Amino acid sequence: MRERKNITRGLRFTLTAIYTIVFTLLLLGVALFFRHNLTSNLDQEHRDDLDQNWAIVKAYLRIVNDNGQQNFHPMWFADPNDPEESAAVALVKKLYLIADAQGHIMEGSADDKALGLANPSEIHSVLQAPGAVLSERKDSDGVRYLIRESYVTGEEAKDRKFYVAIGTSLAGSDKLLSQFTWQAAALLPLVILTGITIGWIFAGRALTPVLEIAQTAQRISGSNLNLRIRVRGAGDELDRLIETFNQMIERIEVNFNQMRQFSTDVSHELRTPITVVRGQLEVALFTAETVDQYRDAIVNSLSDIERLSQIVRALLLLSQAETGQVILQKQSLDLVEIADGVVDQFQIPAEGAEVTLSFIPQIPRCVGDFDRVQIERMLSNLLSNAVKFTKPGGEVRVSIDRKDDEVEIRVEDTGDGISPEHLPHIFDRFYRVRGAGEQASPEKGLGLGLSFVSWIVKAHGGSVDVQSEKGKGTTFIVRLPLTVPAPPRQIDEAGLIVTGA
Ligand code: ADP
Repeated sequence: MRERKNITRGLRFTLTAIYTIVFTLLLLGVALFFRHNLTSNLDQEHRDDLDQNWAIVKAYLRIVNDNGQQNFHPMWFADPNDPEESAAVALVKKLYLIADAQGHIMEGSADDKALGLANPSEIHSVLQAPGAVLSERKDSDGVRYLIRESYVTGEEAKDRKFYVAIGTSLAGSDKLLSQFTWQAAALLPLVILTGITIGWIFAGRALTPVLEIAQTAQRISGSNLNLRIRVRGAGDELDRLIETFNQMIERIEVNFNQMRQFSTDVSHELRTPITVVRGQLEVALFTAETVDQYRDAIVNSLSDIERLSQIVRALLLLSQAETGQVILQKQSLDLVEIADGVVDQFQIPAEGAEVTLSFIPQIPRCVGDFDRVQIERMLSNLLSNAVKFTKPGGEVRVSIDRKDDEVEIRVEDTGDGISPEHLPHIFDRFYRVRGAGEQASPEKGLGLGLSFVSWIVKAHGGSVDVQSEKGKGTTFIVRLPLTVPAPPRQIDEAGLIVTGA
């Protein structure tokens, strides 16, 4: 019922309506064009007929003067034994009128008066006209005639003009035209109705995939994100729409699965330290006797709580970063100095993992506008991964170089490497490669480290690339634009900012 009410708002209705309007206008145009063509063809035919009849008049009609008595009368010089000549004259005589200059009728057919041909003033003007006068007239029954009015001169008296009118009935062509009009008027609605039906069926067929898309989209929910719409193989716009839609669902499915995986990981990550802390505190409560035993329990619990708060902080920060709530605190900084500091902090963990960590800047200084905290976080994440995924005896190298208006930071390791199927996803949130490297690592990540790296680099207007070969090592290349540092600013005694030279 509801669908029926909305039928006029549907795409199918709109398409059919537009198609019908265009189709009807086209049909009307074609019908009018043919009618116009038919009219002008018939008109030309009648004119030609009249020209032919006038030639017969010229050939066979003579106005003779009996014995020079000024007694003029028309004579037809057609051979009565020649059927062709007789037929030609008979044809002309169907509708004709011959009169003298004063308007006295000399000879004519029965219809002449009905058409008002014998009007003396008209006869006078025709005799004065340089050529023939063509006009249309109607008889008392409403039948149309085409009339050709002109003159001939007397046979002996060439200076005397005699009015001659010949005509032809247009009844036949009028009948033909009205037949055409009626047939077109009767056929047009039939053709339009057929057009509407065909248009409605085809619009329906063309839109079926759209309805399928809508129905499938309605059925898709969190539990059946694996649903896809069937591609028809027509290679048209609708197929492209279906492919795009399917790709979108696929992306949503991947993200959804990652989120689901993440919830599992987070609850697991949070549950383990919580259980441990709880266990430690319970044991201490029931079994600890000395102050040292209580202290040990508290120290152990604190370190687990630290891990818990690290996870929560990371999650909070990432969600803030992604919703644009973290604003970079940029200032003019030397990147070489920052990297040196971060590498220093990782020397002890690297030694612990028996990994050689070195920093080789190709330039002594590299000053640009950076957010110190975020750049340090980015380098820490890259270095912690490099150390974490490099086996004892391996090497991690950090280098900084300047390329035109960019600075290039490389973090290379000789670790496990990342297999090609994982490489495109490692910057995705919560993505972790589950493998030997990770299991060997004492510190399990949340799969958020590289998401941070990616966000920080993007927020600085740079890019990050990764090259990796399984078993050989991984290199992360970060490129950051070096914006010209703002001139140093000083504050004078009055508290106003003074731009220095
Ligand atoms: P995590 O916090 O788990 O380390 P990241 O987002 O930092 O998460 O890294 C995602 C995944 O990328 C890691 O689980 C790891 O498998 C892989 N990865 C990152 N850096 C390296 C590296 N230097 N060597 C090998 N694998 C790496």
